[in-house]
Amino acid sequence: MVKKDALERWTVEQSAELYSIRNWGAGYFDVSRDGHVVITPFLDNKKARVSIPKIIKGLRERGLDMPVLLRVENILDSQISLLHQSFRTAMERLGYKSVFRGVFPIKVNQQEQVLEEITKHGGKYHHGLEAGSKAELIAALAMLRDPEACLICNGYKDEEFIDLGLYACKMGYKIFFVLEMPSELELILERSKALGIEPLLGVRMKLAAKAGGHWTESGGDRSIFGLDSAQIVEVVDRLKAADMLHCLRLVHYHLGSQIPNIRDIRTAVQEACRVYCGLIDEGAAMGYLDLGGGLAVDYDGSHTNYVNSRNYTLDEYCADVVEAVMQTLDEKGMDHPVLITESGRALVAYYSVLLFNILDTSRFEAPPLPKSLPEETPTLIANLFEAAKSMSVRNVQESLNDAVYYRDEIRGLFRHGHVSLRQRALAENIFWHMVNQAAGLLKQLKQVPPELDDLHEAISDIYYANMSVFQSVPDSWAIGHIFPIMPVHRLDEMPTRRAILADITCDCDGKIDRFIDPHAVAKSLPLHELKDNEEYYLGVFLVGAYQETLGDLHNLLGDTNVVSLRIHEDNSYDFVREVEGDTVSDVLSYVEFDPKKLQTRFRHTAEKAVREGRITARERRDIMRAFEDGMRGYTYFER
Ligand SMILES: *Cc1c(COP(=O)(O)O)cnc(C)c1O
Repeated sequence: MVKKDALERWTVEQSAELYSIRNWGAGYFDVSRDGHVVITPFLDNKKARVSIPKIIKGLRERGLDMPVLLRVENILDSQISLLHQSFRTAMERLGYKSVFRGVFPIKVNQQEQVLEEITKHGGKYHHGLEAGSKAELIAALAMLRDPEACLICNGYKDEEFIDLGLYACKMGYKIFFVLEMPSELELILERSKALGIEPLLGVRMKLAAKAGGHWTESGGDRSIFGLDSAQIVEVVDRLKAADMLHCLRLVHYHLGSQIPNIRDIRTAVQEACRVYCGLIDEGAAMGYLDLGGGLAVDYDGSHTNYVNSRNYTLDEYCADVVEAVMQTLDEKGMDHPVLITESGRALVAYYSVLLFNILDTSRFEAPPLPKSLPEETPTLIANLFEAAKSMSVRNVQESLNDAVYYRDEIRGLFRHGHVSLRQRALAENIFWHMVNQAAGLLKQLKQVPPELDDLHEAISDIYYANMSVFQSVPDSWAIGHIFPIMPVHRLDEMPTRRAILADITCDCDGKIDRFIDPHAVAKSLPLHELKDNEEYYLGVFLVGAYQETLGDLHNLLGDTNVVSLRIHEDNSYDFVREVEGDTVSDVLSYVEFDPKKLQTRFRHTAEKAVREGRITARERRDIMRAFEDGMRGYTYFER
């Protein structure tokens, strides 16, 4: 039981600590004195802050239901500026004699407004784009106006792709074709000759180096993309033969996303620099070195080389990269290249927050231990009862082992008809009483035996979340990626429950049961009791990278409402964009239903029910209205 004075003593500082918000929030999120999560988008003006619960209130007043994906444009701007400032500072300090050019890989978040903001705010720094497909190239060509900004083309390129790229080159775009496969070169040379336009070429190299992390299959000998050293030499020879070696301008590699360890980053840079120098030795013009993505986000705030974190800061990343490049090139007396990185995740992760409400909870209630047992209770149940009574901090593990043994034996007896339903229920209650008591006793232990790690999970509540994991946080389901999640209000109250989250897809995979923890991974999340007639709102943070388009229509739960916010230094803010989420009719049409036809079919069924006297004609009208309202409605739970 939680004591009342502990509840009263709880402070927002304790909440900030409990949810690690200052560790993963990167200065963009904090807790206010009244227990709200606030957005602090200006890293140099902490006074400017906007409360998320107040934003939610404003959204509800405007008729926008949960779940909502909230985007904060200022945060995106800030991340772009930080990246460029960091590189600029490192280059000035170390004496680098060229410049940094970032490009944003479109696949990380393809939404129009993201590209618009990146090209607009990034324009100050000549921030460019990276396209990996025809559709992305077309989007990039339309969005990018700055002739100084680079447009890097990775991925398979067919004739249409190449022609478009060559025309763009003629128009003045700084567009690079990066060879991912040796076979691509012939088609490019052929189209270049046919159109009379010389391309800027790059090679994507296969790194021998391989990094740790979730997404790092891009590195290593077995990576599926890129050229090995023999193939790079073949490309050089082919270009020499065609008298086009001056078109080879860039070396590119991509080690994988979310590289947690700075050592892996340095090793890859060194390897790439050697290839770069080698190409200059071969007579290629060069001038550009593209280090790909990989700059990680510290999702759990632990600042370690764990997969959800990173053991370096942005400044350290930039300084290490610049230093490693200079070391190799200075040694060879070669000019410093224009440095390009393709950071996606680190630019956009922070700026989106998924907000949702809790619809209901299923509480774990520990059954009380009976005072005594009924007559004729089977011996095994009596033994279980004795084990429960004698459990103490000294014998927790032993008692639990006994409990599991007795419970399983009793279940066996039940199957064979030797234990009644009522007796089995009694045994299960004693068992769960013990589990709950053990969880309490473990708090007194300094060291919890690893076998008992899962105990808290067994007795956690289930909070039902109005969202779909598959649609809004697909990486959580697909690869067990962990995002910071916390309540966005009531942080001046002590959270007294521990819970896992279940979404509304009714799929047993539609849950979140791993949470950030400074030391490992937590199996449950501290949450508050629900209050009558009051919504309880949570946020999943740092979801701006990859989650939006990877999400799917599992159970036909569609896109959420999306709102973009622009915050001003005086704490005021504008909802600059609202995009209503999918309606039921939208998602049905995605899977080829024709909403009109569905309505007609249902009307026929309703008419038949009228004919058969099951409903009246007037009822048919109401039923049809409900059907049509449903079609127009949001796919999520509406209050
Ligand atoms: C995915 C990808 C990126 C983006 O990586 P981040 O880790 O998100 O920065 C960059 N370049 C290429 C070629 C990619 O495939």
